[in-house]
Amino acid sequence: MSYQYPVYRPRLTGRERELVLECIDSTWISSKGKFIGEFESKFADFIGAEHALSVSNGTVALHVALEALGIGPGDEVIVPTLTYIASVNAILYTGATPVFVDSEQEYWQLSVDDVRAKITERTKAIMPVHLYGQACDMEALVALAAEHSIYLVEDCAEALGTRIGDRFVGTFGDVATFSFFGNKTITTGEGGMVVAKDPAVANLISRLKGQGLAANREYWHDIVGYNYRMTNICAAIGCAQMEDVEGVIAQKQRIAEWYAQGLAGLPLARHAVKPGTFHSFWMVSVITDAAEDRDPLREHLKAVGVETRPLFYPVHTMSMYGGGDPAAFPVADHLSRRGLNLPSYPDLTEDDVSRICGHIRAYFSRNGRP
Ligand SMILES: *Cc1c(COP(=O)(O)O)cnc(C)c1O
Repeated sequence: MSYQYPVYRPRLTGRERELVLECIDSTWISSKGKFIGEFESKFADFIGAEHALSVSNGTVALHVALEALGIGPGDEVIVPTLTYIASVNAILYTGATPVFVDSEQEYWQLSVDDVRAKITERTKAIMPVHLYGQACDMEALVALAAEHSIYLVEDCAEALGTRIGDRFVGTFGDVATFSFFGNKTITTGEGGMVVAKDPAVANLISRLKGQGLAANREYWHDIVGYNYRMTNICAAIGCAQMEDVEGVIAQKQRIAEWYAQGLAGLPLARHAVKPGTFHSFWMVSVITDAAEDRDPLREHLKAVGVETRPLFYPVHTMSMYGGGDPAAFPVADHLSRRGLNLPSYPDLTEDDVSRICGHIRAYFSRNGRP
């Protein structure tokens, strides 16, 4: 079905068409061409990173990031159970073992206390996922990782523009990854980026994403690599998207503020913004006070043309990760049963948000609440 208000819709009103046509007119449509380097350097400049390497999506970005740090069989990587499936799958692709941690109640990010409790001598990395645009507690995680000599791999797929103080997420970890899927803050259709601190790691990522090509010898390969390259067409879209990245992020602040006003007083909690951080509100999300309200509220909204998404299901409950008991991670379970993401695309107007909030209010008044 098509919704009047989908959860997401990309904003493609800039120079995307012009730059894509330039690729076609010039025949540079594959993974060589000027837009690739341009997109990478614009992106690196924007978040303040040394090295940014484009890849074909955010999932392979994670895979190649982990592999470039030498993570493989026998290693453990700590990851929140409340995340998108790709974070965890990428760990499995390397042969390493994902070790799940619970979330913090207020901000929904991985619990640093639980991370500390799950570190063993096999722990090779921690993967903080900046969920829905909120920052993880990177100060504590950087200290913890340094204390135990383990890597930090930031999954920033949902957090382009998120800051702690004046520093963008993606610049705290040894490596960080981004996604440019159609519903992400900026999009290239499909696409991703890997940011690395150490030039040697960046170099290895660039070789791994391009079939493990050796330096200085054509068609000679000295490691097993992949074809994880981004096309020039995608990079052209990315360059156009970067021209308005500040505008999109600013609009998301307005949208979050409109929802805050429109939802005040209802029996639900908005995603709290951690003091000292800038929440980029990839998705405006709420948790209903009563778990029993979440699905009927979603149904009510669907019937009036408003699409929503449930918060992620804890990954440890899925069959390939053992089909574990939801209660094993009580905070993740609590949030997952009550949470929903509301329409959050940058072209929403104040009227749109006010109409959506009116539908949410109508659900609760119909059910005898405020
Ligand atoms: C979107 C997303 C990914 C994967 O990105 P794709 O580009 O869809 O492969 C990874 N992690 C998180 C948290 C995401 O939201």
